[in-house]
Amino acid sequence: MTEIREDEYLDPADGLLHCRKCGGPRQAVIPDPFKGGSFKPRCVCPCQQEKERRRREAEELRQRMERIRRRKAQGLQDRYLYGYTFAHDNGENPVMAKAHAYVDHWPEAFKRNIGLLLFGDVGTGKSFLAGCIANALLDQDVPVLMTNFPTILSRLCGTFGEDRTAFLNGLGDYDLLIIDDLGAERNTEYALEQMFSIIDSRYRCNKPLIVTTNLKLDELKHPPDLAHARIYDRILERCAPILFAGKNFREDNAASTKAAARRIVSPDNQKN
Ligand SMILES: [Zn+2]
Repeated sequence: MTEIREDEYLDPADGLLHCRKCGGPRQAVIPDPFKGGSFKPRCVCPCQQEKERRRREAEELRQRMERIRRRKAQGLQDRYLYGYTFAHDNGENPVMAKAHAYVDHWPEAFKRNIGLLLFGDVGTGKSFLAGCIANALLDQDVPVLMTNFPTILSRLCGTFGEDRTAFLNGLGDYDLLIIDDLGAERNTEYALEQMFSIIDSRYRCNKPLIVTTNLKLDELKHPPDLAHARIYDRILERCAPILFAGKNFREDNAASTKAAARRIVSPDNQKN
């Protein structure tokens, strides 16, 4: 005879134990194929199942939040990056719309390995935009690392063999790698060699890269030497260039408006 717990009662209708809370059965009926009759093993009632489901959900959420916190600690190496969020955007830079779009379309950007090249003058908000993307994706549990070449180079300095390979492979574990301020590092032969191996390994593992730089697009397209050229070529191949500069941005718009206007009023626009 099964023991009756405090929150149960024996229902004379079916002879089974039921839950006092939800009324559901706490026993199943399984026929005994050999001796006839049946077994009545304990089972969980609907409210117990629901309670267990909620407990598992809460536990998964707790683990997810813990993972996000850890990833942020690893992925945002400089404390100030924590403040680079959409919530802190003053809404004055129209380019920020592209950051929102990138985050909204992240699954596709990731699948198709589409990165961004944020270029333009100092202080135009490139790092802020990149940081906002990093924070928004980290909040969605996406592994992101935002770093810069001086940090990577100092980490690589004096690292050889397996350690070096492990470090480089580790960069490939991040779904998104953001390299802030390309071009600010010292251009020694060693530095350029390391930079190429990082950009190249990113390229080969087919995961997106976001680069910010104060360099002009023209400087990137026409680098001074072969060592720079092979780095920049890789970046330009996978990263969509976005120009930062309020003034230039408006000039761009004005130019395209003018061009559109010219097309519209042009007598031979039907050819286009
Ligand atoms: Zn119940």
